[in-house]
Amino acid sequence: MSAGLRILKYPDKLLRKKAASVKSVGPEELGILAEMAETMYMSKGVGLAATQVGIDKQLAVIDVGEGLINIVNPVIVKTDGSETEEEGCLSVPETAIKIKRAKTITVNFMDEAGEIRHLNATGLLARAFQHEIDHLHGKLIVDYLNPIKKMLIKRRRSGHKPKNI
Ligand code: ZN
Repeated sequence: MSAGLRILKYPDKLLRKKAASVKSVGPEELGILAEMAETMYMSKGVGLAATQVGIDKQLAVIDVGEGLINIVNPVIVKTDGSETEEEGCLSVPETAIKIKRAKTITVNFMDEAGEIRHLNATGLLARAFQHEIDHLHGKLIVDYLNPIKKMLIKRRRSGHKPKNI
């Protein structure tokens, strides 16, 4: 059994990279998706994007408890409604941020067999897709914070303790 892939942590600059689109799903992509799924389950996450493990490909895995979805080149083509929920991220440990996202989405992507899928998702599944697609575009949950709160998170991450005055 492998130890899984190493998940990059905020503020690693590689998390800001926009992932390249995948031309076709071959053995390399299948191997990465399998390793990503294993890493996601070991980390008790419900989603993981290739950007988070330093791989420059539009690949992601999601399992919100309804089975594993292998995702290649996802694009949201329709959104409906909105919902604000607290969200965490394996790349931003011990941080929960309230984020307003579309409640229902239609997403197009290629699956592990190279078939184009059109999926309607709502609730946590819709949120997970939006979160992973953000990752593939170099966007993180901290980007939804205002600049002052973002600075506080950075300080805490670097071990900096603000002075008591
Ligand atoms: Zn994340």
